Order: sequence, then structure tokens, then C-alpha cells
Amino acid sequence: MAKIQAPVRKNDILNVYFEDLTHDGNGVAKVEGYPLFVAGALPGEKGQIQVTKVNKGYGFGRLMKLEERSPHRVDVPASEAHKYGGTQLKHISYEGQLQFKEKQVREVLARIGKLDEVKVHPILGMDEPWYYRNKAQVPVGEKNGQLIAGFFKPRSHEIVDTNESIIQLPEVNEAIQTVKEICNELGLKAYDEQAHKGVLRHIMARYGKATGELMVVLITRTPDLPHKNKIIDKIVSRLPQVTSIVHNINAKRTNVIMGETTNVLWGSEIIYDYIGEVKFAISARSFYQVNPVQTKVLYDKALEYADLSGDETVIDAYCGIGTISLFLAQKAKKVYGVEVVPEAIEDARRNADLNGMENAEFEAGEAETVIPEWYKQGIEADVIVVDPPRKGCDEALLQTIIDMKPEKVVYVSCNPSTLARDLRILEDGGFQTVEVQPVDMFPQTTHVECISQLVLKND
Ligand code: SAH
Repeated sequence: MAKIQAPVRKNDILNVYFEDLTHDGNGVAKVEGYPLFVAGALPGEKGQIQVTKVNKGYGFGRLMKLEERSPHRVDVPASEAHKYGGTQLKHISYEGQLQFKEKQVREVLARIGKLDEVKVHPILGMDEPWYYRNKAQVPVGEKNGQLIAGFFKPRSHEIVDTNESIIQLPEVNEAIQTVKEICNELGLKAYDEQAHKGVLRHIMARYGKATGELMVVLITRTPDLPHKNKIIDKIVSRLPQVTSIVHNINAKRTNVIMGETTNVLWGSEIIYDYIGEVKFAISARSFYQVNPVQTKVLYDKALEYADLSGDETVIDAYCGIGTISLFLAQKAKKVYGVEVVPEAIEDARRNADLNGMENAEFEAGEAETVIPEWYKQGIEADVIVVDPPRKGCDEALLQTIIDMKPEKVVYVSCNPSTLARDLRILEDGGFQTVEVQPVDMFPQTTHVECISQLVLKND
């Protein structure tokens, strides 16, 4: 398709109609077929915009005045809690957000996966779609000699001091704010990204909603944490729920938040949480789902789709701390889990012991390397669960699944585009997608989670 020459110029003021919403939550208006992306605008709305950037095939604009409102628009309070923090859809009613996500799943499955006919269930949303995240990790900076912490301004590395976010649990908001205050009282220096100097880079808090246990992690550039003992005393006295205070050292110039070295300052190196009946130990660097309410919904679906009778061998690829593995081990003969982060595999083994589950085995490594090796050694699964990061499954893994021919595949995905791509590969390799269930794990944000069931086609 030939790229359209821009019919608009920078700084033009235009009256437009918004006809669509991009997957990252921007309104789309077209001028003679040329798309302009405008943050904060919704489909069905009319308004006045100023053109801010003109590229070859598309441009950007700023909403100046709204002239016709979408019935899905809600007024966002001006409080700071609502202002920042990756909540790109907060100006859309929750019903509207759910519709947007469900539509996106259907469209992407049809366009990328050629799965126009596949059954997509109505998305499972939350009753209370605010204050749900069990974890926050906020960057620390300095302003007028004071330590600040919060969110980056969109498309910048400027930190906005924020004490609250509408998508974090109150315990998490309180923990971050309190630790920031304590570090400020003690005169701790913030890390300066530009100069690669200073001390405190990030503050992280994770809360076990079912146990009430709180972990605080201070991430510094320097191997030492100044005022260590005072920091510990103050945290313990002001945050009675804390059970673990951890110091992580990240001396590198990088966007990656945590470094390789983690020292326990006080209490335990882990916190516990429950999902359903299963108890989990979680260490600072391990992945753990951030929405405890919806995680239960997602894992129950995984159990339903795996449809276990007790005789099956199951492989859980990208298993993290073994959450889905142990959920399924309750009903399977044997579960094998594989995950690339070694600490997560240590957690997974500890979690199997913790729950007295002897039928789960874990190996650290890449799913695309370890599972083909297992297959060569004669390990074959009746059910394979995959839950990859955003980039989806590696082709070598998909090929091994196709060769192994499990009766069922359960695919958990946080990115509909790579899900659609991988489902197409599995369909062409002999599987049929029975259904797809979107689950809203991330209300107020553009993120979309899906779980789908595939079965082996009889030939
Ligand atoms: N199923 C788990 C974790 C899902 S997140 C849960 O629900 O909690 C995806 C996980 O895949 C992360 O823990 C990440 O460390 C891991 N990962 C990323 N690339 C991988 C690879 N190539 N092989 C195995 N695991 C990988």
C-alpha cells in the first residue's frame, strides 16, 4: 500500500471526527484517509485538534476542545492519583474498556491469525476495577533538594512525584509513600540517570493480599545502603505489615530495574501469598501476577481448559514460580515446569514442598531448549500450558508441541498479536482452537490478557 502524503501541516488546527481507538488507547481521526492519532479522544467523538507531528503515513495531534462526547467517556478527577501511572483508559467507562479489549481480541485473531470463526467469549472483568495491583516499583529522583518518586511523564524520563495510584492496592501505595518519606528524612541521595551517580534508584513494594505480608525492596547503584539500620527501624515501626526488607544492588547503566545481587536487610527473603488453596513463596526478583483477584479467575480457566482426570502428564512452559504448574498438579499425575529465571525455579521447588506436592518437577532454562530435550528423552505430555512474555512462543517450542501432539494445549497470553500468530502456527500444525477467553487482568490500562484452549485434530 502506498503511503499517503500528508494533507496536513504541523500546528494546523482542525475539526475532526474520531472513528477508532488504537491498541495503545489513542483516538484515530482521518483527514483524506490520512490517520492522525490523538491521546484522550474516543471513537464517536468530535473535537478540535492541533497537529503536533507529521510523518509519512500518519501523524499526531493534541486534543484542544471536545465538541461531542462519547457515551463511554467518564470524567477523570483532577487528583494526582489519577494523573499518571500507565492508566491510558481511565477516561473510558469500565464497560467501554471491556468492549474495547474484546473487540481488539476478535480483530487481531481474524487479521493476524485468520481465525474469523473462532469462539471468543465475553471478557471477564472485575467488580471493582481500581486499586488492585499487589506490586509497584517506582523510580526515584530529586527535585529542589528533595527526594521524589512516582511515575515517568509519558514519553519522557522526567519523574513526577506521586503518592498514590488508582490501580495499586492501598497497602502498596502506603508502603511506597512511607519508604520515600523515610529516605527523605534521612537525606538519602537519589540516583541520577544522566550522570550515573547517586544512590537510590527504585523503591519496590509487593503485598500478599491473602496473607497481609509486605515486602519492601530498596534498589541502589552503590553496594552500600547509607543509614541502613535507621531505614530498617523506621520501616518496621511505620509499616506494621512488613515481613521482608530487601536491598538489591544494580550498578549498571540500564533500564532494567533490579541487579543480580540481593541482600536481606530484615525479616525474610520471601513473602507468602495464596491463590485459591495453593500457597506461594515469592522472592524479590521473581515474576508474580499483579492482580490477585483476576489471577484466580485466569488459573481456574486454565484448570478448566486442561480438563484433567488425574492420569495426565502436563508441561507448564514459562512457569515462573510454578503458579499454574501447582494449580494443575492438584489434578494431574505429573507436572513438569520450565522457566528461564533461576530464582523463580528455586521458588517453584520450594512452593511444591510447601504444598506437599510431590508430582511437580522444575527445570531452569529456556522453554524452547529444555522442552525439545525432554521430548528427546521420552517425556511426552497430554496437556501443554504455555504462558510466554509479550513476544510469544519461540518457533522451536511450537514445532516441538506440533511433534509431541498433546491432546490439549492451553495458551495464556498477555499480547493478542503474538497469540494470534502462534495459534495460526499451531492450527497449521494439526491443532484446532476451541475457544478464547479474554480476562481483564489490567483494568484502566490498554493491556489485554487471553487464555485459549486448543485440541489435537483427529485426522
Ligand atoms: N505462568 C507464570 C509466569 C508467566 S510470565 C505465572 O502465571 O505466574 C512469563 C514467564 O516467562 C516469566 O517468569 C519469564 O521469566 C519467563 N520467560 C521468559 N522467556 C522465557 C523462555 N525463553 N523460556 C522460559 N521462560 C521464559
